[in-house]
Amino acid sequence: DSFDDLGLTDAILQGIRVNMKFSKPSAIQAKAFPLILAEPRSNLLAQAQSGTGKTAAFVVGMLSVVDGSNPKTQSLCLTPARELAQQTYGTIASMGEFTGYTMACLVAQDKDKKKKKRRGKAKPGPPIDAQIVVGTPGTVIRCADDGSLNLSDVKMLVLDEADYMIAGNMADNSIRIKDMLPAGVQILMFSATFDDDVWEFAAHTVGKCNTIRL
Ligand code: AMP
Repeated sequence: DSFDDLGLTDAILQGIRVNMKFSKPSAIQAKAFPLILAEPRSNLLAQAQSGTGKTAAFVVGMLSVVDGSNPKTQSLCLTPARELAQQTYGTIASMGEFTGYTMACLVAQDKDKKKKKRRGKAKPGPPIDAQIVVGTPGTVIRCADDGSLNLSDVKMLVLDEADYMIAGNMADNSIRIKDMLPAGVQILMFSATFDDDVWEFAAHTVGKCNTIRL
């Protein structure tokens, strides 16, 4: 198995080799790449713990859908926690360095919370010009609602730690964001557990999905 026959651009392969220093796909990557990259694009529900290489699996997917000539946001990854979003952003920036794609990490800053308390609604920020965006759902919704984040060209949505993304009050936000995206967006879900809630979300909110169970 190698990264060579997946139809990835030279810039992505360079990021994998030079920055990530990966020589061959991990087990989950070997299973996921053909399912993520095949045309027509289809949804994926994958069971994967941390440590399996799941982040790189979906980051390759996120990089692969971007049309470099379109400056609008085309790949969106949601994570349940700020630290995880920042970590994932680091992987995207490193693996994607040679693509030249624009990227942003949208998480609440401590000052945002204070500001919100002081004067109620947040003012729209400057437009977020990033072809690839990773963030936590609350902040992504705030940026979409205030008009700074345009989601009309998003082609891929990743739900990392999907079991957390669809639980409790995070579920409403995940569904709201999904509903803001164009119909036909490719959805990738990575979840450590495969319980009924995950299946139900996949069946009702996402629709037809390929699945990987390790
Ligand atoms: P994750 O499962 O995303 O938390 O990744 C766990 C670790 O595996 C990270 O340190 C990655 O850099 C590393 N990793 C991911 N893919 C590969 C690969 N194909 N070869 C070697 N290491 C990898």
